[in-house]
Amino acid sequence: MDRQFIVSYQIQDSLYLNITNRCPNRCAFCIRQTATGIGYNLWLEKEPTVQEVLAAVKDPRQYQEIVFCGYGEPLSRLEIVKEVAAALKKQGAKSIRVNTNGQANLFYGRNIVPELANLVDTMSISLNAQDAATYVKICAPANGEEAYYSMLEFARKCVGVIPRVILSVVDWPGVDVPACQAIANELGAEFRLRKPID
Ligand code: SF4
Repeated sequence: MDRQFIVSYQIQDSLYLNITNRCPNRCAFCIRQTATGIGYNLWLEKEPTVQEVLAAVKDPRQYQEIVFCGYGEPLSRLEIVKEVAAALKKQGAKSIRVNTNGQANLFYGRNIVPELANLVDTMSISLNAQDAATYVKICAPANGEEAYYSMLEFARKCVGVIPRVILSVVDWPGVDVPACQAIANELGAEFRLRKPID
């Protein structure tokens, strides 16, 4: 697949930011596994700088929400997320969301959630499964079952620090949706059944 430099794309009133293609998972339903993805080629020829991301947003006030997501895990570029979110807030962004696999604390070896307080309004974490074994089967994380437990702990740390915390799953063979909902309830997070793209 050719690589391009699509750093932002709009879906309805939201603007999505594509800042990296790196991810420690290989989810079975990931749009990276399909040739056309969501209709844009989000394979980046290089990772954008802070200035390039801000240039791709132009005026943040025109969107209901600005979402860090993309063909990859946005928090693998934590410093960029922090700098861009701070600049967008200053420019009047209404709401900022991060779509994440929740493995950042494992990746960095520290709790990074406080660093995102006041910068991120919504943390949408891919729960993806009701237990570690199912998670490993569906998401093939580089760190095995530890990735699942770390993601749950990350969600726990977000609740009370980030204003809105959502745990999401894709309806996929092997996923026990009610059991996943119960996990979200127990953690004090919202629950969402999502399509693979958002
Ligand atoms: S965590 Fe997200 S980007 Fe990473 S493989 Fe899974 S669906 Fe794709």
